[in-house]
Amino acid sequence: MTDRSDVLIIGGSIAGVRTAEGLRRLSFEGGITILEAGPDLPYDRPALSKQILTGGGSAESVMLRSQADLDKARIELRRGCRGVGLDVGARTVRLADGTAIEYSDLVIATGSVPRRLPAAPARPGVHYLRTLQDALDLRDVVDAPARVVVVGAGFIGSEVAAAAAVRSASVTVVEPYAFPLSRVLGDLVGKRLARLHESRGVQLVLGRSVSDVGDDGAGGRRVVLDDGTTLDCDVVVVGIGATPDTDWLAESGLDVADGVVCDEFCRASAPHVFAAGDVARWPNPLYDEPMRIEHWTNAVEQAGVVAWNIARPDSPRAYSPVPYVWSDQYGSRLQIVGRPRAEDEVRIVLDGPAGDSLVALYVRDGGLAGAFALNAPSQLLALRRALAARTPLDEIMATFED
Ligand SMILES: Cc1cc2nc3c(=O)[nH]c(=O)nc-3n(C[C@H](O)[C@H](O)[C@H](O)COP(=O)(O)OP(=O)(O)OC[C@H]3O[C@@H](n4cnc5c(N)ncnc54)[C@H](O)[C@@H]3O)c2cc1C
Repeated sequence: MTDRSDVLIIGGSIAGVRTAEGLRRLSFEGGITILEAGPDLPYDRPALSKQILTGGGSAESVMLRSQADLDKARIELRRGCRGVGLDVGARTVRLADGTAIEYSDLVIATGSVPRRLPAAPARPGVHYLRTLQDALDLRDVVDAPARVVVVGAGFIGSEVAAAAAVRSASVTVVEPYAFPLSRVLGDLVGKRLARLHESRGVQLVLGRSVSDVGDDGAGGRRVVLDDGTTLDCDVVVVGIGATPDTDWLAESGLDVADGVVCDEFCRASAPHVFAAGDVARWPNPLYDEPMRIEHWTNAVEQAGVVAWNIARPDSPRAYSPVPYVWSDQYGSRLQIVGRPRAEDEVRIVLDGPAGDSLVALYVRDGGLAGAFALNAPSQLLALRRALAARTPLDEIMATFED
């Protein structure tokens, strides 16, 4: 059996839902169907680590849209419905039950999945965090007096550590780089982030990686590090990055290389196929590099461009954002704009007296490449605008000298 939708969207999270809503805002009147592999209505993934884990939010409070919202916008969401194959010639997506859906335009918005640590498959006491169910399971076990070991001090690992510490768990973070986020932000800023963790009693084990996760013989877990050190604990949380969810496209012939490869209009390598959000790789005209961005704002903005390019195929828009991400840890807001790199020259232009706010500029080839802010949202917003406008560095520096 084959049914049909004018626009078929695979993935019912922020990129998929925003694409559908964007189409309706552009007066697109055709049928829109979203297939979502998971069981839930669309929910706010960033809230999983910030609200659910801290105990400050319920499953209901993180829902993005109700069924009534979707009905009103005439968006059909099929939950528990996984796309398992794509035929770009026949313009159909195959489902797990053997049926297929035909499309006029297809949007791939399948996001990303956590990278697995081979030594630590998910099992009782070993957790990954991506879905609402993951967060609910983890919330129940990171409370005091649990001993929690977090593997990875990137955004997810750091937020999990912060949430567990807020709930008085005893927390240790293992990170192979010299400091949290120093792979991207360098050691100067990384050191400040280390202080943020340590000031809340979180123990950092830096420059070490995990070689095994076994049992401690007393019902808990034993984390073995590459120097032989062992950390006994009740809960291990692995946060070592994510990979684009593209396995289901393996036979499609679509160009896939660490994401669905698109042009600057977010069009994939087959006609009438687009991609948005964590899964999309595209050449950002503002930069000279192909990008794939695993951040919320990108999913929202890219969805808007994809909706436009489907609804207005005769006047397509290139997608040229200044990348942006925020993270909330221990009541502090961290924000990054642009493309900072650890090897850039770092200029600290604001350093709050109590060490609780900071703005760092990342300078490359004589211009501003990116910026990091700790508790300085208005400065960060101005820097995002400056990056978009390619404002010369000396003009930007002058705004901090006033
Ligand atoms: C705990 C956590 C905290 C985060 N915090 C922040 C933050 O503070 N700031 C920030 O900028 N970003 C944050 N992010 C990242 C942000 O949530 C993602 O960038 C965003 O969710 C990407 O949206 P997406 O729609 O592209 O993909 P996803 O949200 O990954 O959604 C993809 C959807 O597709 C579905 N799917 C996958 N394959 C199929 C298939 N074959 N068929 C049907 N459905 C399928 C999945 O079930 C999923 O619901 C966080 C992420 C997590 C996990």
